[in-house]
Amino acid sequence: MTESPSHDRLTVDEITDDDVLFVDDEHFSRENVCIVTGAGSGIGRATALAVAANGLTVLATDVDEDGLAETTAEAEALDVDGRIETTVADLTRDADLDRIVEDAAASGTVRYLANVAGLQHIDAIEDFPMEKYDQMHDVMLRAPIALSKRTIPHVRGTDDGVGAVGNMASVHGHYVTADKVGYNVSKFGLRGLTQSIAAEGGAGLRSFSISTGYVKTPLVTDQIPDTADQRGISVDEVIEDVMLGQSRVKEMMEPVDVANLFVFGFSTHGDHLNGGDLLFDGGMTLTYE
Ligand code: NAD
Repeated sequence: MTESPSHDRLTVDEITDDDVLFVDDEHFSRENVCIVTGAGSGIGRATALAVAANGLTVLATDVDEDGLAETTAEAEALDVDGRIETTVADLTRDADLDRIVEDAAASGTVRYLANVAGLQHIDAIEDFPMEKYDQMHDVMLRAPIALSKRTIPHVRGTDDGVGAVGNMASVHGHYVTADKVGYNVSKFGLRGLTQSIAAEGGAGLRSFSISTGYVKTPLVTDQIPDTADQRGISVDEVIEDVMLGQSRVKEMMEPVDVANLFVFGFSTHGDHLNGGDLLFDGGMTLTYE
């Protein structure tokens, strides 16, 4: 079968220094640790790489051991100033959540947490399997809350109390599309977590969320055939009409574009970003034709 040209637009090049936002920040050093979930793929991997490139120690965690090994290999190729430690863990298990933060604390001073891991499932509400809903809830909402609960005492215990929790939300944390109820509920909830941390933060502890439209990662490319089936249209129509149809910017974001938002949000340039959402959606939610 001939590859459609639109499919080429789904490929992602390996990250180079030219792609990464570098910020001069007194806390961006190897003594300080940033936990990144979902670090074995897509946005989480790019975030781990960009944060490590900025000099921090990253505790990269994912249930996918091979994915984490690839992240480590890419960090070596990028020759990051910081370092990447890995912990294989399942975010649906409390014992694993404990281990993630314990491993992070063993690697340095825990100041930053990027809740990125996620998954998608497409079904109408009346058909939505509750076990799938529970899994999505556990990974995308309960784990971010539980990891925040375990991370915040470390931030509060530092000399200056500076640290932040960044949560990967979505345009689906602002408005919703059909057949994604598990995802929509989790992303709205993540914005609630973000604002809750801000409300309780004070003295240097901040939180922010990031909401993007479509980013070139397996989570998106894997759901395109399902979406096509649900809507009875072709894969090309899903990309051009459904995914990018309401966006004024007609290319999907690269994972590193999102990673750079985490770098900015964690840095001192984000000092007044507290409870807020970085809506980088190419105009998707705020304009219409
Ligand atoms: P991805 O599929 O490339 O990566 C998700 C990672 O989460 C995988 O490595 C997976 O192993 C991990 N994960 C899933 N279940 C887990 C579990 N139980 N324990 C530990 N790790 C687990 O997807 P991505 O596109 O990089 O998505 C990352 C985040 O970004 C998700 O929260 C997603 O909702 C969000 N997001 C993605 C897009 C997009 O267009 N790709 C847009 C907006 C928001």
